[in-house]
Amino acid sequence: MKAYVNESCIGCGMCNSICSEVFEMNAEGLAEATGAVTAENEASVREAMDSCPVGAIEEQ
Ligand code: SF4
Repeated sequence: MKAYVNESCIGCGMCNSICSEVFEMNAEGLAEATGAVTAENEASVREAMDSCPVGAIEEQ
């Protein structure tokens, strides 16, 4: 799978707290999925997806 943060992101930082390996906060204070999703971090990526308050993390 690949993760993608859509335009609904409000910059709460939750995904970055849960899985900083994949989710980074950019200069605008919004999240970007910059890291690769691997077998090791996939569960954390899914947890971040489920925890995002605005459902901004999509699976591609
Ligand atoms: S958890 Fe959702 S709203 Fe919060 S920073 Fe991540 S993508 Fe944005």
